[in-house]
Amino acid sequence: MAERIFLALFLPTVLAFYSIHKYPRQVLDFSGFPQADISLFHLAGKAPGFWYASIYTALVCGACLWLLRGGRNQHQTKRKKGAPSSYQRAKFRSIFLAQLIAFYLVPYVVPAMLRPEGFFHDPVAIGGKAAHVYVWPAFTSAGGAIYIFMVIPLAVWFFGKRYCSWFCSCGNLAEAVGVLPWGARWVRERTPRGTGARKLEVLQLVILLFSLFFGLMLLLDGLALVTADGLLASTAAAQDLVIDFAFGSVIGVGAYPLLGTRIWCRYGCPLAQGMKLVGAVTRSRFAVQPNDKCRGLNLCTAACPMGIDVASYAHRDKQPTEQAFGLWDTPCIGCGGCIESCPVDALAFAPLGGVPIAGESS
Ligand code: SF4
Ligand code: SF4
Ligand code: SF4
Repeated sequence: MAERIFLALFLPTVLAFYSIHKYPRQVLDFSGFPQADISLFHLAGKAPGFWYASIYTALVCGACLWLLRGGRNQHQTKRKKGAPSSYQRAKFRSIFLAQLIAFYLVPYVVPAMLRPEGFFHDPVAIGGKAAHVYVWPAFTSAGGAIYIFMVIPLAVWFFGKRYCSWFCSCGNLAEAVGVLPWGARWVRERTPRGTGARKLEVLQLVILLFSLFFGLMLLLDGLALVTADGLLASTAAAQDLVIDFAFGSVIGVGAYPLLGTRIWCRYGCPLAQGMKLVGAVTRSRFAVQPNDKCRGLNLCTAACPMGIDVASYAHRDKQPTEQAFGLWDTPCIGCGGCIESCPVDALAFAPLGGVPIAGESS
């Protein structure tokens, strides 16, 4: 009953919140109070973004602490009991620190404390939600270019897409919710799986191409080689509405209970598609390696939030196949859920450089 009430309230709440966060002026106009000031949405002098970040961080960090301090490991099975593995503990420590420091204290708390007018006097701004996972900033600043074209490929070569399960703010929420009892069930039961769901992942490639195209337009505009203000503005507005607001925010978070926790990460996020391509091109040696203990129990597939059919690499008709997989053929984020859930320890991350690459796996 509690979960049903939650489900009934969750999506409308997410929709209402992101609407206010991203389009406050339009929400005011739509509500019939066109003269009302946007500061109406500022509670105690703080912008909606601050309150959103506070709740988000409390949820993520709370779930991490709960797990690290002995909360039930959702990957436990009847045959495999015990505390989360050292990998999972390290991952949740990383998530805790990244969320608290990089995504809360640094952007929301410290600058506000240093402002002369004081902490509880946020400037009234029209909209405030910025996305961190696009690739077009690589075309607008040297820092963005270094980050996207150098730091990310290097990290992917060494660590695969663990950025998505150890650090990224969006991924932090997905991982945190995924260890809570309801969230773990949403991942197991609602994550789209199968051939059709996998084919649909091409959508993410389309969004990456759109993001690169938009980045190129910004670059040409910045260099004053081409000026197309109208086109730029309408492309930016369309991206904001369709990709960032509708897909990345409302569906990305609101559909957790309906489609699992990684819909945006699997079908939308252009950075993730870029990382996957970079991993394949740079021959990243990140991989999950099954061994000969596999008994064909298929619990690994059910645990994967990215909808990867892990068991199909581990066995055929319950006979172990020991076929490694990595970024050359899956969108694996290195969360370790499949490894944690296998009751016979038939899966492990391959040591760096220790597995075959695309086309070489047995
Ligand atoms: S897929 Fe994108 S949004 Fe999801 S965790 Fe990775 S970088 Fe973040
Ligand atoms: S790897 Fe483990 S969970 Fe997956 S099919 Fe084999 S025995 Fe089952
Ligand atoms: S295959 Fe395993 S490590 Fe990769 S995303 Fe799925 S559960 Fe996580």
